[in-house]
Amino acid sequence: MAGVIRRLDEAVVNRIAAGEVIQRPANAIKEMIENCLDAKSTSIQVVVKEGGLKFIQVQDNGCGIRKEDLDIVCERFTTSKLQKFEDLASISTYGFRGEALASISHVAHVTVTTKTADAKCAFRATYSDGKIKAPPKPCAGNQGTQITVEDLFYNVNTRRKALKNPNEEYAKILEVVSRYAIHNSGISFSVKKQGDTVSDVRTLSNASTVDNIRAIFGNAVSRELIEVGCEDANLAFKMKGYITNANYSVKKCIFLLFINHRLVESAAMRKAIETVYAAYLPKSTHPFLYLSLEIAPQNVDVNVHPTKHEVHFLHEDSILERVQQYVESKLLGSNSSRMYFTQTLLPGADCSSNEVVKSAASSSVVTKGSSDKVYAHQMVRTDSREQKLDAFLQPVNNPLSAGTTEVTTEVNAGPPEGADRPQDAEMEEVSELVEMVDVQEDTVQPGGLSKSGHLSLETVPSRKRPREDMDVELEKGDTRKDMTAACTPRRRIINLTSVLTLQEEISNQAHAKLQEMLHEHSFVGCVSPQWALAQYQTKLYLLNTTKLSQELFYQILIYDFANFGVLRLSEPAPLYELSMLALEDPESGWTEEDGPKEGLAEYIVEFLKKKTEMLKDYFSLEIDEEGNLTGLPLLIDNYVPPLEGLPMFILRLATEVNWDEEKECFESLSKELAIFYSIRKQYIIEESNPTNSQNEESESGSTTWKWTVEHVLYKAFRTHLLPPKHFAEDGNILQLANLPDLYKVFERC
Ligand code: ADP
Ligand code: MG
Repeated sequence: MAGVIRRLDEAVVNRIAAGEVIQRPANAIKEMIENCLDAKSTSIQVVVKEGGLKFIQVQDNGCGIRKEDLDIVCERFTTSKLQKFEDLASISTYGFRGEALASISHVAHVTVTTKTADAKCAFRATYSDGKIKAPPKPCAGNQGTQITVEDLFYNVNTRRKALKNPNEEYAKILEVVSRYAIHNSGISFSVKKQGDTVSDVRTLSNASTVDNIRAIFGNAVSRELIEVGCEDANLAFKMKGYITNANYSVKKCIFLLFINHRLVESAAMRKAIETVYAAYLPKSTHPFLYLSLEIAPQNVDVNVHPTKHEVHFLHEDSILERVQQYVESKLLGSNSSRMYFTQTLLPGADCSSNEVVKSAASSSVVTKGSSDKVYAHQMVRTDSREQKLDAFLQPVNNPLSAGTTEVTTEVNAGPPEGADRPQDAEMEEVSELVEMVDVQEDTVQPGGLSKSGHLSLETVPSRKRPREDMDVELEKGDTRKDMTAACTPRRRIINLTSVLTLQEEISNQAHAKLQEMLHEHSFVGCVSPQWALAQYQTKLYLLNTTKLSQELFYQILIYDFANFGVLRLSEPAPLYELSMLALEDPESGWTEEDGPKEGLAEYIVEFLKKKTEMLKDYFSLEIDEEGNLTGLPLLIDNYVPPLEGLPMFILRLATEVNWDEEKECFESLSKELAIFYSIRKQYIIEESNPTNSQNEESESGSTTWKWTVEHVLYKAFRTHLLPPKHFAEDGNILQLANLPDLYKVFERC
C-alpha cells in the first residue's frame, strides 16, 4: 500500500537542514570564525568545554551586529552579505547564505552578545530554533561579538551519541582554528579549554605566516620551509604558500589548502603534489604543505555543499599540472645540499666507493690467516684514548679557562673536589689531557658533578629499595651480579599497555646499522656542546649530542618506566618560583593576554600538586605538600640534567603534557623530561660567558660538560640507545668522511 505524502513540520525540516551544515563542533566553530573574519576582526578567541559539545564561545573584536538586526540574525537565509544572485560570482566574504547561525540555533542554545562602534552599550539575546527568545537586553561589553553555543545537539540524540569522544572533537577544533590562524597572519587566534589558563593554540597579531607555522607545527617544520608563489593569467589562478623541502618528511601528509581563502579539501590536488614529492622523500613519508590558491570566482563552484568542503574548479587538470611543475622546480632548486648527503654521507647507505672496507677486527683476522695486506687507507684507530680532538686545540685559545678561573676565585673559595678537577685539566699541558680524563673517570662521584648551592643533588637509588607498599608484581630471583644481596634490585614489572606500546614503537623504529655504529664507535671529540665527532671503522661521523641525548633519556624513561632512582635536591625548589622564572623568560611566549604571571604560576603549582602521586610513583619526580620540587629521576649514573632548564621544564610540564590520555601522557611527559635532561647548548654556552658570573651554580657545569658528554652520554649511547631510523635522514647523524675516499683525493693532489 502506498504511503500518504505529508508536508514535514517546519521545525523538522530546519533540524534536518541544520544537521547538514553543522556535523560536529568543529564545523560550528569554522562557521563562527568565518563570521568573525567577515566582520573584520583582528582578534578571535575560542573557548570550549567537553570538545565543544557542552559549550563553545567565540569572541571577536569586529564590527558587531546592529541591535535592529538581532531579531532575525538566527533566522534561516538572513545575511548582511549577499543580496542578488549575481553577487555570488564576486562574493568576497566567507558567508553569503545566512545559514550558519540559523543551523546552529536549531541544534543548540545560542546567545549573542554584541556591540557596534556607534552603539552606546552592548546587547544580548538568546535564540532557539532560529527565533529570538526575548527582546535584546542592554548590557556592558566591548566592541565586537561574542557568541556562545551550549549543549550542541541536545535535540538530536543520534548525533550526540555519535560524538561521544570530546578529545577527538577538541583535536578537530584545534586543527580548524590553527589552519585559519596560519592563513590569516595579522589576526591573533587562541583556543583553550574552559578553565584552562594556557591556550592550546595561540598566534599573535604581529606574527608572520612562518611564525604561525612554527608556533603550531614546531621548528622541525618551520626551518625547512620554502616559500612558493606563482601565477598563470591564462588559467586565471594565483598560488602562494609554504612547502617543506626534501629534508623534511613525516608519516602523514599535512596539507593546508585554501581556495579563495576557504579551507577546503581537494583529493586531486593532494595526489598531484604528493606524486612530485615521492621522488624526493623516503618511502611512505610525506611533506608539510600550506597552499593558498586564488582562482577566478566564476571558475569555482563554492556552492557544492553546505559545508563547502571538497571543491572542484574549472580547468582543474591544467591548474594541477601547472602546480606540479612549479613545486618540482622549487624542490630541485632547494636541494643540492641534500642530494650530496644522500649519495655519499648517509650512514645506512652503502659506501660510494668500491673499496672493501674492513673493520679493525676483521682485518686483523685476515692478516693473520692469509696474505691479505692491510693498506694504510684501511687502518683504523682501535683505541679511542689514543688521541682526541682536544689534543689539536690549544688550551690557551679556550675562552672557558680564562673566564671561569676568575669566577672561581671570586665566588667559590673552596670548590668541591670533583668540580675543580676538570677545570684544572683545561690548564694542563696537552700531553696530560688523556691521563686526566682517566683519573676523573675513577674519582668523580655523582655528587661531585652536582652544583653547589641549594640545587645540589644526592642520588638515592630507589629501585634498589624494597617497595612492599606497592601492589605490583615484583620480579623474583633477579640476580644482578654486580649488586650485593642486601640491595638486590627489585624491579617493578610494568604491564601497562600504554608503556608496552611505547616500548614497541621505539624498538620498531630502531636502525640496526646506526645502532652498530654507536655501539662500536670511538669518541673523537666535542665540536660544541651540541655536536661531537665519532669514528666508526674508516668513517668519521658528526653526531647531534643534543638530539641523541634527548632520545636516550626518552628511551630510558619508557624502558625503565617506574623504576628510577631519585636525584634528591638538597633544598626543595619552590614550583611557584620556578614557574615565575620560566614565565619571565621570553621563550615562554607569555603575553599580557595570558593574564598575570602570578596567577598562572599559582595555577601551575596547584595543577602539579594534583599529579604528585603519579609523578612520584612512575617518574620519581617528587613534589612535597608545600609545592616544592624535591626530587628528580636518576636516569643514568653520574648525570645531572642542566638545572638551568628546570624552570622551563616545570612550565612545560603543566602546559605541554597531554594529561588526558594515558599513553599520550606518558609519552609527552617523557618527551618533556628528555628535553630537560638533554645537553643543550643554550645552557652551556651561557655558562662560559664571564658576564654571567654572578651565577655561581654554573661553575662546575662549564668545566665538566665535555667530560660528561664523552664519558657519560656517549658511553650510554653505546649500550642504551636504539637510534631511530630518522636520525639517518634528518642530519642528526652525518657521515663526514671516509678514509679510502680521502686517500683518493690526496693521491690526486
Ligand atoms: P552568513 O555568514 O552566510 O551571512 P551567518 O548565519 O553565518 O550567515 O550569519 C548571519 C549574519 O549574522 C551575518 O550575515 C552577519 O551579518 C551576522 N554575524 C554573524 N556573526 C557575526 C560576527 N561575529 N560579527 C558580526 N556580524 C556577525
Ligand atoms: Mg557565516
